[in-house]
Amino acid sequence: MTMTTPAYMDPKKIHSLTLHCAATPEGRDVKAATISQWDIAKFGQVSYHIVVELDGSAVRTLADDRRGAHVGGKNTGNIGICYVGGVDAQNKKPKDTRTEAQKATLRRLVAEYRQRYPGIVVRGHRDWPGVAKACPSFDVASAL
Ligand SMILES: [Zn+2]
Repeated sequence: MTMTTPAYMDPKKIHSLTLHCAATPEGRDVKAATISQWDIAKFGQVSYHIVVELDGSAVRTLADDRRGAHVGGKNTGNIGICYVGGVDAQNKKPKDTRTEAQKATLRRLVAEYRQRYPGIVVRGHRDWPGVAKACPSFDVASAL
């Protein structure tokens, strides 16, 4: 029996990769499983495809052929990667809190996605038109 794959689940239709921060305070070792729990509570599903923990571990939270929930109205064909952190230790201001291990993992993941999905556009959450957020608290274009 042949099944028709909905367009949003077709890996060939993946066109974007969006980087996020979890908006957790600097140094707080929040695990990927916790972030997924928060997202399920808030959005009814896991938001991101991969979460990068403080030690640089890349934890797969959603398969690439599943639609995430990380950019309002723009989740089809859009992979979401989130690093733990993004706010200062006082939990007040956006801050680039990426550890060296997280930076290395994010670079590696972006390179892998560029290879796997040629032409994929890599952006920070705040780089999407109409988004008024600090996320991911660093400039993706100059950092990667
Ligand atoms: Zn975001």
